[in-house]
Amino acid sequence: MILIKGCECFSPAPLGHVDLLCGGREIIAAEEIINGRSLPGLTFIDGKGLLAVPGFIDSHAHFLGGGGEGGYTTRTPEIRLTDLTLAGVTTAVGCLGTDGFTRFPHALLAKSYALEQEGISTFLYTGSYQIPARTLLDSVEEDLLLIEKYIGVGEIAISDHRSSQPTLQELIRVASSARVGGLLAGKAGIVNIHVGGGHEGIRPLFDLIKHSEIPPTQFLPTHMNRNAPLAESSREWVLSGGYADFTASSEKPEENPLRPARLFQKALSDPHTRYHYTYSSDAQGSLPRFDAKGRLTEIGVAKASSLLEEFRYSLSLGLSMEEALLPLTANPAAILGLPRKGQITTGRDADILLFDSKTLKLNTVIAKGRLLVRDNTPLARGFFER
Ligand code: ZN
Repeated sequence: MILIKGCECFSPAPLGHVDLLCGGREIIAAEEIINGRSLPGLTFIDGKGLLAVPGFIDSHAHFLGGGGEGGYTTRTPEIRLTDLTLAGVTTAVGCLGTDGFTRFPHALLAKSYALEQEGISTFLYTGSYQIPARTLLDSVEEDLLLIEKYIGVGEIAISDHRSSQPTLQELIRVASSARVGGLLAGKAGIVNIHVGGGHEGIRPLFDLIKHSEIPPTQFLPTHMNRNAPLAESSREWVLSGGYADFTASSEKPEENPLRPARLFQKALSDPHTRYHYTYSSDAQGSLPRFDAKGRLTEIGVAKASSLLEEFRYSLSLGLSMEEALLPLTANPAAILGLPRKGQITTGRDADILLFDSKTLKLNTVIAKGRLLVRDNTPLARGFFER
């Protein structure tokens, strides 16, 4: 059991100063006064000067690495536990990327089990960039129905020279598989769409909802802050009922006018859409750099820590704590269909971050009721990080 005494808590809604009691993997109580210091085996944390917020949910991470667009040597490395925990990520959704040929669903599933055993919660999208989706079992429906980790399909690439150039019918078919598999399995069956820099943008998604019975809420298009027209169409998409995900990793975030927090701040003026936005890191995905002539010169690696930076940046822009947290916590939990995640509430998983309230330094990470980081130091490491 862990008792955090007297922290200022945001669920993400402000709860004021409370005591948080975690037992097993759950939050047992979030109340004003909990007298539990004498409980046997209790870990006591003095919450004075600390902010408690839900653990971050990263809805798009390349656990096995990604990239490879510059040849074999540019395949990016696998993620390690502390890449996530030191970024405040306690739940991550893994996916394959451009290379769905040498990186397999089997390996991704094994890696997700490893991260789960090491301490965080993991989920997966089946498939990769290409349609037909490469699945573990015979179909998207079977993966969703029979394997707990799968919560959707993706990242299916559109409007990108690296996509399989899917037709409208192919997109409808894969989305219907995700929908039916999701319905039968009691999961969201989200279709995570990689939107490239192509001129079509998310036009294929607008076409899809026009020409099928599939609702816009079936999709979570990502990289929607890739360029200005796409950022603009994300508003249009959200106003028509859809969700939009902004990628936090970028080469030079300080020079990026399309940072997630900026776009979300702008979107807050639209009515009823604040719950439709999420941020993800694209962790271990590739960040290609090109020279003035457009030649590939280097490939950087996207980092989970970009989410932590975006959280702090949101607050520096003047967003409230709740607004800064929504796209990182409660929103992805609701959109991805993860009812135990994303909020500090009795009965949900004890996934809690403690920040120094003055410096906003991440002090403590609790995931599934276990202390993974304490006083900025990892207590849990991946097997080969030790
Ligand atoms: Zn992508």
